[in-house]
Amino acid sequence: MKKSIPLSTTCEKHPWPDARGRFGAYGGKYVPETLMYALDELEAAYRSAMADPAFQADLEQRRQHYVGRPTPLYFAERLTASLGGARIYFKREDLAHTGAHKINNALGQCLLARRMNKPRVIAETGAGQHGVATATAAALLDLECEVYMGAEDMERQRLNVFRMRLLGAKVTCVNAGSRTLKDAINEALRDWAANVEHTHYVLGTVHGPHPFPMICRDFQAVIGREMRGQILEAEGRLPDMLIACVGGGSNSIGLFYDFLGDESVRMIGVEAGGTKLVPGMHAARFAGGTVGMLQGAMSYVLQDKDGLIGGTHSVSAGLDYASVGPEHAYFHDNKRIEYTYATDQEALDAFQRCSRLEGIIPALESAHALAEVVKRAPAMATEAIIVMNMSGRGDKDVEQAARFIMQGEEL
Ligand SMILES: *Cc1c(COP(=O)(O)O)cnc(C)c1O
Repeated sequence: MKKSIPLSTTCEKHPWPDARGRFGAYGGKYVPETLMYALDELEAAYRSAMADPAFQADLEQRRQHYVGRPTPLYFAERLTASLGGARIYFKREDLAHTGAHKINNALGQCLLARRMNKPRVIAETGAGQHGVATATAAALLDLECEVYMGAEDMERQRLNVFRMRLLGAKVTCVNAGSRTLKDAINEALRDWAANVEHTHYVLGTVHGPHPFPMICRDFQAVIGREMRGQILEAEGRLPDMLIACVGGGSNSIGLFYDFLGDESVRMIGVEAGGTKLVPGMHAARFAGGTVGMLQGAMSYVLQDKDGLIGGTHSVSAGLDYASVGPEHAYFHDNKRIEYTYATDQEALDAFQRCSRLEGIIPALESAHALAEVVKRAPAMATEAIIVMNMSGRGDKDVEQAARFIMQGEEL
């Protein structure tokens, strides 16, 4: 019975992005002329690496022995029993080295940098998770590393700043604009344009100009590819529903990608609903955004009617961004993937529920996906199967969560 299920049909059925780097009307490369050459060079290097068995073998070896792949697929028995419906599995990206899925992309791109003979990598970071993943891979591969981070974020995420410095990276403070992620990305793009002959820009999610959304997706697709084998082994069939949180969109597309061709599998992306669905108080780009261009790609953007980028809010820093990867915009419009959102409060409730029932403290980002599981599972049949991506562990969020949850209580 297991053998009758095709291993993966995605690649034939989903030829995106096209030659111009577009997912339907979305994506593309809206960058200054100076960066066009760098993007073309990167795409050529990437395609040659993917076709090179030696590169693939090296990547695979490091995934196993350094990242700790395959990550487990875990049956959440107590959560399943407490919700009384569908069988719930977690794909445990929280158990990957550095505690989240981001290392999958950072490692792949740092290997590409080395292949291009570029001794220096740069990265942008908001909460610091991508900065830490990049600094980690750079240490492993002996690359010089500089991470751009908004002044506001450096203040909020002091521990991650220290982690990056400990790993040998230079952390550069960005004082422009709102002094957060968007400004750090602009600064990283400027550095890249000036130093492109010896520097690679490790972009942290499936956003930015082509070929970044494709490269990051392909490095993250290992999540769903592994999970397919694991769920067939555990249940003898494919899941009914996949659920993942959507910041830029890399852990979700990583989970979904291998299943796009399997019509029986529903996919749900969960954005940050913040405190309220009014401008400035959330980061639900599909519920509250419109089509626009940000940081080199066409996609959905939270903006006002003059195209001015809107403020965002989420209890979870990793979901707090004004735009979303262009491939998600494409699948939103053609309805292959459904998008919804969870509020701060719903995520915090799920965060506590999972900690107490499963002994797993999820990242606040992952807790948004978990909130959707809590809403959906009880109404589903007890034979139904949900796989949720546990994108990261929650140690980094304990202080933040304590501020919200335990006001007035003793810790
Ligand atoms: C960064 C991050 C996210 C959000 O980024 P995506 O590109 O949407 O995956 C989600 N979960 C964790 C744990 C993160 O660190």
